Amino acid sequence: RAKESGRNTFALYKPEMQAISDARLDMEKALHHATEFKLFDLYYQPQTNDKNELIGAEALIRWKDEKKGFISPAEFIPVAEEIGLIVEIGHWVLNEALSQVATWLKEGKWQLAWRMSINVSPIQFQQAGFLPMLKAQLEKHDVPASCVDLEITENMLLNDLASCLDKMNAIKALGVHLSIDDFGTGYSSLKYLKSLPIDRLKIDQSFVRDLLTDKSDEAIVHAVIAMAKALNISVLAEGVETLPHYDRLREIDCFFYQGYYFGHPLPPREFITAFVQDLPEPPLS
Ligand code: C2E
Ligand code: MG
Ligand code: MG
Ligand code: MG
Repeated sequence: RAKESGRNTFALYKPEMQAISDARLDMEKALHHATEFKLFDLYYQPQTNDKNELIGAEALIRWKDEKKGFISPAEFIPVAEEIGLIVEIGHWVLNEALSQVATWLKEGKWQLAWRMSINVSPIQFQQAGFLPMLKAQLEKHDVPASCVDLEITENMLLNDLASCLDKMNAIKALGVHLSIDDFGTGYSSLKYLKSLPIDRLKIDQSFVRDLLTDKSDEAIVHAVIAMAKALNISVLAEGVETLPHYDRLREIDCFFYQGYYFGHPLPPREFITAFVQDLPEPPLS
């Protein structure tokens, strides 16, 4: 059929393109397998305040494929969203993160004031079953809702603002916190921000990266902080990699941080060893 329609369609049959779709199919297959057998891990990255105290951690999924090694979530999460696996993966993430908090609470390694930040895909959030699932998970693990922070993105609000708002209010009513992740990269509207039950904005790392050299990035970050303050929303800067970045952020009244300067995402045990002081002896096993 391609031959019939002439030369213009030749590009459809380039071997490179075949290779791309083969790689994509391979990834889809591997993702199905990994989801079925729960071959993921969660790493934890510290979140801190301007007194250098831990305020929580972000749970970040890791996938180590047998053949390809670590594959970035930036690469496989969008695929999981497209093929519908994100709902099951997101459920696994929530279960794993809450189970970890429950364990750390029991071991005296997690403080009630700390928050576990969990990324929620828009597709997962929009599921009719999301709220009951969240409630069931909190009960199952007996974790206080106030220890949980869900990270959602601005673009989610585009879809159906009214139902989104209802769900966010219901989540807040449980006592769970809500953050907007990658703030500034999506289709934000100041009008929405005013009416949403949001606790925290996470300024996207792209603004933080050039903070010291790019005057307009500094102006943006400064403006976001001023606006958030007026709306009584806290602001956390993502991607804080150096001391000068940290210093500048403090100068412009940003008091919560996450980034390699403070610590990389780590597996649970390493996270505790590196960031949680005054640990009791590890339990005998
Ligand atoms: P995110 O939620 O914005 O997470 C922050 C990302 O920035 C993480 O990448 C983290 O490792 C990285 N990062 C932290 N500090 C620094 C820094 O100082 N410099 C730089 N350059 N990067 C830093 P990661 O773990 O590769 O995750 C990428 C994205 O994948 C996440 O962005 C999030 O959108 C998504 N993701 C990760 N885990 C999950 C998950 O469990 N569920 C869902 N739905 N998405 C996830
Ligand atoms: Mg996040
Ligand atoms: Mg982010
Ligand atoms: Mg992101």
